[in-house]
Amino acid sequence: MDYYKTPEDFKEANGYEINGYWYPRVTKIVTIKAKPALYRYYGAASSFAAANAQTQKSAEEGTLIHNTIEKIFLGENQEIDPGILPAITAFKNFLDKNNIQVSQEHIERRILNLEHAYAGTIDSLALIGGKFGVLDIKTSMDFYRDYDLQTSAYMHALTNDPAVPPPQTRWILRVDQIKTCQKCRSTMRPKGGKEKIRKPYPSLPGVKLCADDQSHEWGPLTGVTAIQESPYWKNDFEAFLAAKRLWEWENEYWLKRVGYLK
Ligand SMILES: [Zn+2]
Repeated sequence: MDYYKTPEDFKEANGYEINGYWYPRVTKIVTIKAKPALYRYYGAASSFAAANAQTQKSAEEGTLIHNTIEKIFLGENQEIDPGILPAITAFKNFLDKNNIQVSQEHIERRILNLEHAYAGTIDSLALIGGKFGVLDIKTSMDFYRDYDLQTSAYMHALTNDPAVPPPQTRWILRVDQIKTCQKCRSTMRPKGGKEKIRKPYPSLPGVKLCADDQSHEWGPLTGVTAIQESPYWKNDFEAFLAAKRLWEWENEYWLKRVGYLK
């Protein structure tokens, strides 16, 4: 549980004021779900402060990639930070090869669900392969199921929003950058200054893994772009509502003080 000095602090940190009413943010609500991989990461770190510093740096790089992609979607020419050039180059190649039409007026669009009283911000809406849907950008190593909780909340809100055509589906667009071992094809992700090394999976026939992590010969930093569609969102939305109820329970003191809960 986080601590706040005043109701205003709580509101600012956890939601949006829309038409004179305050609503909690989707991304805050989903933080109530435990993330075991994150605890393992903290547990393996030399100290809590060191782990926090790395998380912070990794988040900054992620935000930079995220914002750069949104500007590319908006057709804005910009200078690309050399540190994220591999990811952005891979992303541009991906755009050239795939027919992705992003609805520019919906980039960073605020969504509001009056029925369930929450708000959020979507990355964009897009037309991909003839389908219209929510497109969310992530700068992570994998597609995590937790993303489905977040995007199901957007799907429900947009389905009941008269200002946009109802979305048919949702996608996660993943953009990241990694190095690959020239000998054994293990991959390494240097994001945030902390190296995360992974063996090739599935294991490659005839390829012998390096004896230890010091033996790898890392190739150049290379961008990775992938897209995953999850059309069926209603089951995820039930789980989102359960998460929301738990989040409300956790934050009951402040939610009553700001008048969100009676
Ligand atoms: Zn290797």
